[in-house]
Amino acid sequence: MSAVIIDGALVAEKWRADISARAAAFAAQHGHAPGLGVVLVGDNPASGQYVRMKRRACEQVGITSLAEILPADATQEQVEAAVARFNEDAHVHGILVQLPMPPQINEERVLRHVSLDKDVDGFHPENIGLLGMKGREPLFTPATPTGCMELLRESGVTLEGANAVVIGRSNIVGLPVALMLMKANATVTVCHSRTRDMARIVREADIVIAALGRPNFVTADWLKPGAVVIDVGTNKIEAPDDPRGYKYVGDVDFEGALSVAGAITKVPGGVGPMTITMLLANTMKAAERLALHAADGAR
Ligand code: NAP
Repeated sequence: MSAVIIDGALVAEKWRADISARAAAFAAQHGHAPGLGVVLVGDNPASGQYVRMKRRACEQVGITSLAEILPADATQEQVEAAVARFNEDAHVHGILVQLPMPPQINEERVLRHVSLDKDVDGFHPENIGLLGMKGREPLFTPATPTGCMELLRESGVTLEGANAVVIGRSNIVGLPVALMLMKANATVTVCHSRTRDMARIVREADIVIAALGRPNFVTADWLKPGAVVIDVGTNKIEAPDDPRGYKYVGDVDFEGALSVAGAITKVPGGVGPMTITMLLANTMKAAERLALHAADGAR
């Protein structure tokens, strides 16, 4: 048996075509494009790279991207003031606070300042709280977990009643994806660094979400035959055969898993392309929602 590859790049492309069409319609109706405001503090190279990628992705679909770039020694007040300017700006519909922030900044306080209507990263404590509550729905859900859920839908797996195992419990991936799976009526087990006998737990899983950040950690013998595997891990490893001298691999031993899993994502080309796409989708949703509210208010 060889697993079906869930092609994140292809799924992301379909989403982006839809977002482009909606962004063009929005711009034609309102005289300006949907806008994403990015707050970046300091010169962390990885954060700078992510912000550039997001900016490029915005341009490709017709979303305007604006940036507030603050120095590494910026104060809490300066960062909150940057968020406040975006909150007030009618041409900015989504706000993204690029994390991590320098140590003098209280990230939670910054995130609390983001207008709920513009919280396209889904990290406002109220949106995360609503995600965890039965019968409640957050306005926005975080990009990477939302991308995982879309890829699961694409695989055709039945979520209701499925045994899902999430490896990792970070605020940005493991925890929210576990909450989303629970909302979708899966039975969810969350593993982390203190979990005992993880292989035994994973072997029970119809769905495995690997988000721990350890290269090739989950091996084929951990998987139940036919399991659907979403590999979030993005680990840079040395690769003498690669002209760059390095490559990226996931948290799952992809080659081994191919012969056991029913479906699996690749790294790269799986969750990665979906992450930025879900941010674009949230920005588009925020713009349409705010425009609708403005129209209702004007009536
Ligand atoms: P993180 O904040 O470092 O969290 C890692 C989680 O994995 C923690 O909950 C940790 O447990 C758990 N863990 C670590 N080592 C473990 C082990 N040996 N056994 C069991 N659990 C273990 O990482 P993250 O931000 O969630 O990211 C996880 C991975 O996803 C990384 O490779 C990252 O690069 C990747 N990622 C990819 C995308 C994308 O768009 N493709 C987006 C975000 C992240 P404790 O809580 O007990 O410490």
